[in-house]
Amino acid sequence: MSQQTTRSGAPGRLLDGPSDPEHDPTASSALEPGYVASLTGRVVATSGQTTASTSPLNGEPLADVPQSGEDDVVAAFDRARTAQAAWARTSLDERAEVLLRLHDLVLDHEQEITDVAVWESGKARKDAYLEAYHVALTARYYARTAHRHLDTRRRSGVLPGATRIDVNRVPKGVVGIISPWNYPFTMALCDGLPALLAGNAVVIKPDAQTMLTALLGARLLEQAGLPEGLWQVVAGPGSRVGPSIVEKADYVCFTGSTATGRSVARGCADRLIGCSLELGGKNPILVLRDADIERAAEGAVRATYSNAGQLCVSTERMLVADEIYDRFVERFVARTEAMTLGAGHDWAIDMGSLISQDQLDTVTAHVEDAVAKGATVLTGGRARPDLGRYVYEPTILEGVTEDMLCHGQETFGPVISVQRFRSETRAIAKANEGSYGLNAAIYSQDGRRARAIAREIRCGTVNINEAYGATFASIDAPMGGMRQSGLGRRQGEEGIHRFTETQSVGTQRGHGFHPLPGMSNERFARTLSLSARLMNRLGRA
Ligand code: NAD
Repeated sequence: MSQQTTRSGAPGRLLDGPSDPEHDPTASSALEPGYVASLTGRVVATSGQTTASTSPLNGEPLADVPQSGEDDVVAAFDRARTAQAAWARTSLDERAEVLLRLHDLVLDHEQEITDVAVWESGKARKDAYLEAYHVALTARYYARTAHRHLDTRRRSGVLPGATRIDVNRVPKGVVGIISPWNYPFTMALCDGLPALLAGNAVVIKPDAQTMLTALLGARLLEQAGLPEGLWQVVAGPGSRVGPSIVEKADYVCFTGSTATGRSVARGCADRLIGCSLELGGKNPILVLRDADIERAAEGAVRATYSNAGQLCVSTERMLVADEIYDRFVERFVARTEAMTLGAGHDWAIDMGSLISQDQLDTVTAHVEDAVAKGATVLTGGRARPDLGRYVYEPTILEGVTEDMLCHGQETFGPVISVQRFRSETRAIAKANEGSYGLNAAIYSQDGRRARAIAREIRCGTVNINEAYGATFASIDAPMGGMRQSGLGRRQGEEGIHRFTETQSVGTQRGHGFHPLPGMSNERFARTLSLSARLMNRLGRA
């Protein structure tokens, strides 16, 4: 292995560009207490209790985060409800302006966002930067397409010329968001922005490990001019605060594990409210016999090791055509071994730390179990405490079988199994194995054939000649999981329509739905049947 050592916990360099005057990541070994307090002060919490968080980079304390009690969650929803009533009456253009201001603010503060996310999650700086970029894309997309998605639409009425139908998009009310730690800035904002644009308020419970990054999002929204009360942040253990959110919200937007998602869905079913669930995956990557090997190896590295594999759409299973298997695997291993690992703020780090001891334990257990049952480690397979507390080497396994933990369970780490295939039909069947259906990648120089194969794959997104970015960053396209990977979609039209109720308003001109004076009910029924036949002949809907 030739992976380089980088500084552990080294403070980030400030590049040119505007930033928050209170924020200077070079001022101490972690974040300035005054800066941290300016963020944690935004949590709706009166309990007086706090929970300490530490940085995965070096184990140093980061923040004492105030904890929200039951009363605080109720107060957050009350405040949000009051603010939402006024917000729903503002014009769409006014709401879109807030998102456009946020777009620029996020780009202005990208260094600050990146610093805080790296301190909290241990991820590589390049992965943290993409969080800011993705939020900017989302804000601009929804602001610019607001009218397309939300304007009242005319639909055909039952009696052409006499029945006018208008379909309004009415906000749900207060949307509850429960977000995970792996992309703390993106996941805190990317669902909330369309919810706000559609006229809703938001109460959000970010994961306890990454509160500061989520709170920075709340501060930027305020700076962008979002009226007070519309974005309430509560904090506390998911098992306690999560169900309180489900209990109070008008719609729930959950991102996290399939197990928790199932319990959120049960809570929503009891209250008969809607929810969208963005859950786990065991995503396959298929390298077909006509793939450009160098391109596929580059893509496979990003597909597998972005965010140290703690990415819902990252790939953990690779199926490679027999004809190119040896050449491809050699290049994939070589590129993997050329990666720079580390725990710190340096842009040169290709793969950062895992977030916690729990994550490190899971990854270690999956690899050890596979090796004990006969899998071969082609590269990696070890924790690297010399580089960072929770750094684990990017790992390629061969010979993974059904009895191994990493075969069907999501590892959520930098570990992939490679397997050869002789028939594409068999490869598609293998890609569809298991209960997940989030994302797949296909490498082939024949776009038409790859798109035909994509239709056979039971995943909500399929990327051709790209790891995951083609769909993930194309905000106009829906994104989400089939089967146990989720319910509903974020992004695109579906990503904003989920936060609205449709309301159909019918205006009847002239005669209504009753017989003309003197006409019997029987004759009226015959006239209706006749008109139905006529409409069918005319090819009308
Ligand atoms: P998790 O389910 O443990 O936690 C997610 C969130 O749910 C956290 O905020 C947590 O505090 C909260 N929570 C915990 N128990 C709860 C309960 N009983 N009721 C309500 N909320 C509760 O997931 P995680 O380990 O933080 O995140 C990793 C998982 O998220 C992975 O499976 C990953 O694939 C998935 N994920 C999916 C997407 C996607 O878009 N599909 C994106 C990111 C992460």
